Amino acid sequence: MAVPGKVAAFRLPPLPTVGEIIKLFRLKAQKQLSQNFLLDLRLTDKIVRQAGELKNAHVCEVGPGPGGITRSILSAGVEQLLLIEKDARFIPGLQMLSEAAPGKVRIVHGDILTYKMDKAFPKHLKKNWEDEPPDIHIIGNLPFSVSTPLIIKWLENVSKKDGPFTYGRTQMTLTFQKEVAERLTANPGGKQRSRLSIMSQHLCTVENCFIIPGQAFVPKPEVDVAVVHFTPLVQPKIQQPFELVEKVVRSVFQFRRKYCFRGIETLFPESGRLKRTEQLMMTANVDPTLRPFQLSMSQFRNLCNTYRKMCDEDPSLFPYNYREELKQKKMRNLLKPTSQTEQPE
Ligand code: SAM
Repeated sequence: MAVPGKVAAFRLPPLPTVGEIIKLFRLKAQKQLSQNFLLDLRLTDKIVRQAGELKNAHVCEVGPGPGGITRSILSAGVEQLLLIEKDARFIPGLQMLSEAAPGKVRIVHGDILTYKMDKAFPKHLKKNWEDEPPDIHIIGNLPFSVSTPLIIKWLENVSKKDGPFTYGRTQMTLTFQKEVAERLTANPGGKQRSRLSIMSQHLCTVENCFIIPGQAFVPKPEVDVAVVHFTPLVQPKIQQPFELVEKVVRSVFQFRRKYCFRGIETLFPESGRLKRTEQLMMTANVDPTLRPFQLSMSQFRNLCNTYRKMCDEDPSLFPYNYREELKQKKMRNLLKPTSQTEQPE
């Protein structure tokens, strides 16, 4: 669990307010880029406190925009702050902040989805994976269209110990649409239990810290927002390659309202499907009539380990793609209007 840190270890000189910066540089939020700004520094302080103790830490802020969260990070007394912002209009305002905290801020005008973070911090900060997390944090309030693909990419990086996790178990404090945060943290049996719950919780301790109501943002988004804190686990709960876990979990949740065997079947080619599904479920000791959202992490682990063994015995299994087979079958059945092939949800 993240231990909330202190803010205000460093005093910024008097500056225009974030609202004044927005006016000064004409930073009207662009709807097509889903830009929603936080102007209340008590709230940005609260987000930054969720990251833990930041005094002398190295922080990467993604999507700083007009710089509300940036000010709170600087006030926490960080050693270095790397800012990655895609929209060039924000750069002059960020430069003003950089001048107010000499030698601390590095600004990159770039896209976080392609930015390589494996060399972004000094080498001496590297920690062994089994040690305490390094003094490196990622913090960001990104558009929802970016934060979900980004967390999937970062979870893959956690699993491979590359990207930002070259330095060890780097912690992340990020915002998500409230419903996505609920999926990330959902327990077995919960309404929101999904692929995202398994993929995140098998690799990280995931904590839903608090909700920010939509009206706290300017302009106000349609939805509420949640702050989520991630700490990579020393031992992943499923010790198999990311791609294999992803394939099993995606297959299980393919038919989320049906019995779980229905999704698991899709791991296997049509010939021998039933036999192999039975073999997998029996060896993994999973009741085929459970619904996908009822499966526990250890049941997912058993499924992944058993599927791995089956793939090792028959290397043609892992590349098998159910949707591809379905597509080819559809092509063949094109002239048969009574085809009853069931569609994934
Ligand atoms: N952090 C600011 C705040 O809380 O007020 C701005 C938040 S706004 C929701 C998202 C910010 O992320 C914008 O400044 C936007 O330009 C930036 N952004 C969007 N996509 C990005 C990407 N792919 N890489 C880096 N920054 C991005």
